[in-house]
Order: sequence, then C-alpha cells, then structure tokens
Amino acid sequence: MNESQSTAAVIGGSVSGLAAATGLNQLPAIASVTVYERQEYDEKRVDCGEAINDATLVPLEKTPENGFVNDVDGFQLRIYTGTDRPPEAPPLATSNLRCDPGYICERDVVERQWADRLASRGVEFRTGRSVSPDEYADIVETYDYVVDASGQPSLTLKSKGKTRDYTGDMVALNATVEGDFSAYVNRPRIFFEGYVGYAWAFPKSERHANVGIGWAGDQRPDDYVAALEAAAERNGFPIPDRDRVNIYTIPKGPSLDPASAYYPEENVFLVGDAAGIANRYQGEGICQGIRSASLLTDLIRAGNESAYPRALHELMQSEYRLAHLMRGAWVEHENPELLAAVAEALDGLTIDDITRRPATVIRRVVRRPTIAARLLSDGGMIRRLYDSYTDSWEYASESGI
Ligand SMILES: Cc1cc2nc3c(=O)[nH]c(=O)nc-3n(C[C@H](O)[C@H](O)[C@H](O)COP(=O)(O)OP(=O)(O)OC[C@H]3O[C@@H](n4cnc5c(N)ncnc54)[C@H](O)[C@@H]3O)c2cc1C
Repeated sequence: MNESQSTAAVIGGSVSGLAAATGLNQLPAIASVTVYERQEYDEKRVDCGEAINDATLVPLEKTPENGFVNDVDGFQLRIYTGTDRPPEAPPLATSNLRCDPGYICERDVVERQWADRLASRGVEFRTGRSVSPDEYADIVETYDYVVDASGQPSLTLKSKGKTRDYTGDMVALNATVEGDFSAYVNRPRIFFEGYVGYAWAFPKSERHANVGIGWAGDQRPDDYVAALEAAAERNGFPIPDRDRVNIYTIPKGPSLDPASAYYPEENVFLVGDAAGIANRYQGEGICQGIRSASLLTDLIRAGNESAYPRALHELMQSEYRLAHLMRGAWVEHENPELLAAVAEALDGLTIDDITRRPATVIRRVVRRPTIAARLLSDGGMIRRLYDSYTDSWEYASESGI
C-alpha cells in the first residue's frame, strides 16, 4: 500500500456487499478490501425467492456449479378472483413476461462462489461473527471507506439509534420443496390472489422449487405459515415442512431518505436493502442491491462519491414510480378483474419493462382505452400518478432530493 491508497470495509457479505467488494477491489486507489459477514458461506441460509432477474450483473459464469441452476424464459403471472376459491378454479387471466437474463438460483452457492472468487483476488473475509455496535465504531474509525450492506435495518442506523427512519417493509416467507414442476420449469409462476402481495413457485429443476408468499400491503394474516400452506394448496405446489420455512422482511423501497444512505463525516455508504431500495411492489432486491453497489463504486472511481444519494435516487426513480402505480391498481381498486385486464395488457413484455420502464407499461395500458379509463376513474389512482411523477414519497425528505 502506498500513502495515496485507501482502505475499504464492507459490512454484510450477501449480494450487495459482494458487489461492493467487487467494485472496490478493482479501484487502483483502494489498497485493501475487507468483508465482514456474520454467517459462514458454507452454512448460510438464504431467505429469498432466489430469482435473479438480470444475471448479467453477477460476475460469475452462469453454470449450475456457480448456483445458476435454472435458466428461465420468463415468468407467468396468474391472476385469480381471490383466496376463497376451489383449488381447480382457473385463473381470470395469465400473462407471460420474458426474462432472458433470468435464473432461479441456489443463492447460497452463488454467494459462496462469488466470495471464493473475491478471496482469490485478494479480498479479505472475516466471517462467522456479527459486527457489534462497538466494533462498528472501530471499523468506521479504521477504514477510509465503509460500505454498509447489512440489510434493513442497517448496522449504521442501529448504531445511530435511527432504525425508525425506515418507513416500511414487506413480509415474505419461502422454502424449498420437492415435487413435479416439469409443467412450468422454464416459466416460474407468480400467483396474484386478491391481497396486496403474491405467492410464487420458482422451479430450480423439474423436481424441486423455491416456493413462497409475501405481503406488500398493510393487511397481513395472523398466521403467516398457515397462509403459505393455504396458498400451496390453492395453487398446486407442495406444502413445505414448517421447520423449513424462512420468514423475513424486505424494504418497501424507497423506505429510507436517500440522504441517509451517506454519512460524509465518516465516509459510510449504505447499499442494497440497507439503503431501503428493494422494489415495493414485487419485493425484488437482488439486482437493485447489486446496481446500487456498482453505482457507488463507479462514483468512488470518479472521485464523486458525495453524489451517491442523489445518483441512487435517480437510478431507482422510475422503478419507485412504476411500483407505486402498480400497487395502486390493486390498492385503490381492489378489483381482480381489472388487475387481470392490466396483466393481459402486459403480456409479452420483459421483467425489466414492468419493473423500471413506466413509459412502456403506460403505453401498453393506454392501447386499451377502457382499461386506462377504469384505472383512472379512481381519485386515489390519480393521486398516485401525481405523487409518483412529483417524487412524493412517504419519508420526510429534508434533503430536497
Ligand atoms: C422470502 C423472500 C423472497 C425474496 N425473493 C427475492 C427474489 O426472488 N429475487 C430478488 O431479487 N429478491 C428477492 N427478495 C429480496 C432480496 O432477498 C433482498 O432484497 C436481498 O437479499 C438484499 O440483499 P442485500 O445484500 O442488500 O442484503 P441481505 O441479503 O439482507 O444481506 C445482508 C448481509 O449482511 C449480513 N449482516 C447483517 N448484519 C451483520 C452484522 N452486524 N455483521 C456482519 N454481517 C451482518 C447478513 O448475514 C447478510 O449476509 C426476497 C426476500 C425475501 C424475504
């Protein structure tokens, strides 16, 4: 290390932390990168649906050995009248979305292989122990750059006693099950059934799948596991063993003021779930986390890291906008037939289109004037349109970002 070089610590070695370590390790100005991860990579449990919708973002060859076990064509949305229906009831509509760079993964394997690759390129890993608030203070003191990728709520906000700054989350459950998934192995299924959220069955092979359910709205069941079991019965996927079900939360992005993703006096940056950026509509957070980490390291390379909060918000803005509108189609109308019509209008688009291209989605809907008119007949929907295009989110932004 020469005197002009800096040191970097990454707290949290999941997808966002690994992406940050990858970028930092490539910067000539950074002499060393250390990743602090509380779990061991060999034992790590994954609380996630394991769909990586843009696998190009992960710097590994897309092989089963690296955890990319099912190269999917896309996803099928299946819209039902509600949860109170016989198991054989047909969906109101189905809609096929394309996703060429998409995989259902063994996420543990992806992260282990990614960490191994980084270790072989000189990144130091300190695993198997949680960073405590005291150690956090030492890390902040010791390193020139600190990237907090510890999830929501982040260690940074915990240390500052500010976890209440996060404005919201979603709850999701998942498990890996065995069964016969040959009918839809290349087109994983997402089941919309009247509540704000969805169930899923994401095959990893013809014989096993990641299944789960999540709630993005305020109404949540009293018994989450029973709700997953009922969803399995209705939607024809195997009921997971109770002791294999994970429950976890996902940020309802944007769930944190972007200004709180950067602490200039300490040179601490928050990425991924820690920065509260997962998609508030469909709960996707892997690609978002990796993109935020890449953005940050690009800005550090350019010597412009103070622009991170604004740049992060700009990166995510169209996604926040679209997610807010998509939620509105449910929350404001509570009409499965209308949702089915919207889903049919989106048939053939890509996951990327329906995640971060509001103009493409709006163009599709406007082509069917009756649906557009029905959507806009509600005052709440008009307000959402106004809010999302004036960037009015629920966190109290004092930064003006
Ligand atoms: C049930 C469920 C299904 C989901 N399905 C999908 C999906 O299919 N596709 C998708 O894109 N997204 C999905 N998500 C969202 C996705 O899992 C997250 O957005 C993503 O994991 C965020 O990655 P991250 O690296 O930012 O944070 P995390 O994955 O939360 O990683 C944080 C890391 O920090 C470590 N850590 C935390 N505290 C400390 C500490 N004090 N010291 C050291 N280490 C620490 C943790 O061990 C962990 O490894 C799902 C989420 C859930 C709950």
